[in-house]
Amino acid sequence: MKFGKYSFGVGDRFNHEGQAQLRALMRANVEGVEVTPVWNKSNREHDIVNSEPEGTRIEADEAVKALGWKEPYCVDADHINLSNVDRFIDHSDFFTLDVAVYIGNKPTAKDVVAFKQSCAILGGKVIIPGIDDSIVISDELLDEVSGKYLAAVKEAGKIYKHIVSVKGAGNFVTEVSMDEVEDPQTPVDMFFIMKMLASEKIPAQTFAPKFTGRFNKGVDYVGDVEQFTKEFEQDVLVIDYAVKEFGLPEDLKMSVHSGSDKFTIYPIMAKIIKKYDKGLHVKTAGTTWLEEVIGLAISGDEGLAVAKEIYLQALARKEELCAPYADVIDIDDAQLPTSKEVSGWTGEKFGDSLRHIPGHPDYNLNFRQLIHVGYKVAAEMGEKYTGLLKKYEDVVGGCVEENIYDRHLKRLFDL
Ligand SMILES: [Zn+2]
Repeated sequence: MKFGKYSFGVGDRFNHEGQAQLRALMRANVEGVEVTPVWNKSNREHDIVNSEPEGTRIEADEAVKALGWKEPYCVDADHINLSNVDRFIDHSDFFTLDVAVYIGNKPTAKDVVAFKQSCAILGGKVIIPGIDDSIVISDELLDEVSGKYLAAVKEAGKIYKHIVSVKGAGNFVTEVSMDEVEDPQTPVDMFFIMKMLASEKIPAQTFAPKFTGRFNKGVDYVGDVEQFTKEFEQDVLVIDYAVKEFGLPEDLKMSVHSGSDKFTIYPIMAKIIKKYDKGLHVKTAGTTWLEEVIGLAISGDEGLAVAKEIYLQALARKEELCAPYADVIDIDDAQLPTSKEVSGWTGEKFGDSLRHIPGHPDYNLNFRQLIHVGYKVAAEMGEKYTGLLKKYEDVVGGCVEENIYDRHLKRLFDL
């Protein structure tokens, strides 16, 4: 299935902001940059909110219809595996095959032999145009990369074949993700993963590696920016090589699961994809929920009371709410405002503390991360929360749109 050169993950916890999200992408289109919306919501989010993938499909279809969007759009079964793909299969046309947990599993001896045979064609040395260091192919290297990644790619093959058996080949976009792990994949790792994907006949259109550095939820990148820049550029060149030499789909591109708001590295990625004329998928949906809380906080007394209640409960239930996200958040407890402090805040102060404006004196990334994982509290409020989203739709939608367009798309696409 064809989808755009640039694509952007939207979608939101409560399926309320489809139109606001689409409006932001339409503004980029008006500026001459076509960005395909991909509504995504992971299995974990569905479980926590108690929602079903059909709701994401309805949200996307309704937004597209209401705003008269004529370009492609997708609904992503985000971070799925064989055990839960069926929940999504009828409602999605984009599948993120998450095989990170299979990294390091021992491949069968037969698979290793086949992999090594498939690498014979590479000869003793591979030179990737644009990368100074060549890849010297040795038996040890092939053992090492197959030991790390072969079982994972084989698993991706199983999931892919299962989806094909239901939806038919060519009727959906395939992404393979390995981002939710501790150790980053190097460009050399990427090279062999691409080779394995091609051998397994998985027509991946996007690939999400684990990059160097911390990609915490909802806050900026933390890590060695220079190293990231080097890796990202080499990854792009590896993908280019893999498309030409391994026969992977021509539109194969990098997928950056940013956990949102990696403002420091957005301009770097923008520059590199521009330099090589490459596509990019950025998955960054989670902060729409934060914009809802900001919108409610600044909408008046009623909304502010609920925004405060969400924080106070999240603070009291911090351990429980943080547990599913332990690897992707870093909260400094000492920097969290007390419930007494927050109780006295104005809507403006609450909004400014939560909104991600780097350098703003009130911005508090610890407060932000805690609310980011606190959506379960809002889910439990049910109508009390979603009713206010409807009542203050204009303010909330305005925040959602501004966040995606002004803080994300402008930085990513140099608008
Ligand atoms: Zn991810």
